[in-house]
Amino acid sequence: MLVREIITYPDKRLKQHSKDVESFDENLHKLLDDMYETMLHSGGIGLAAIQVGVPLNVLILELCDEDGNKISELMEVINPKIISKHGETKHKEGCLSVPDFYEDVVRFEKVSIVYSDRHGNSVSIEADGLMSIAFQHEIDHLNGKLFFERLSILKRKKFEKEYMAPVKIGKK
Ligand SMILES: [Zn+2]
Repeated sequence: MLVREIITYPDKRLKQHSKDVESFDENLHKLLDDMYETMLHSGGIGLAAIQVGVPLNVLILELCDEDGNKISELMEVINPKIISKHGETKHKEGCLSVPDFYEDVVRFEKVSIVYSDRHGNSVSIEADGLMSIAFQHEIDHLNGKLFFERLSILKRKKFEKEYMAPVKIGKK
C-alpha cells in the first residue's frame, strides 16, 4: 500500500466530474488500498479518489469522534447514488484538499444511498449523523464540488481571502 499525494484547492482536477467504475479488478483494489493508507496517514475520516487525482466514483469513509476514536468500520463505496434525502443539519466541516479551513455547512440530515463494494456487490445504507454528512461531502467531490461552495456568499468571500492569500505568494 502506498501513501499517494493529496491534491489541494485550487488544483483544477478537483473540479472534474468523476466517472463510474466498470471493472472491479485489481486496479480498483490497489486504488482502494492506497486511498486507505493515504487517509490514515493524513488523519481524515473520508477520501474521494479525485483527491488523489483519480477521476473515478470511488470514496472511502472511516469515521472517528472528536477524540479520534473509531466510530465506524472502513466503508469502501463505489458508484454511489443518493436515492432519498430528508431534513437539515449543520456541522463544522474540513477537507484534506482544503487545508486549515473549517466552516459550518448545511446538509441533509439523513440520506439513503446505494453503492457497490470492491467486488461489485450492491449495498444500500441509510445514513444519519456524521455518516450522512461525510457521505454528502465525499459525493460532492465526485461531482467536482468542494464544501466551501455550499457556504453563503459572505463566508465564501472570507474563505477566498484567507485561503488564497498564501496561495498567491506560493505557500500552498
Ligand atoms: Zn473533502
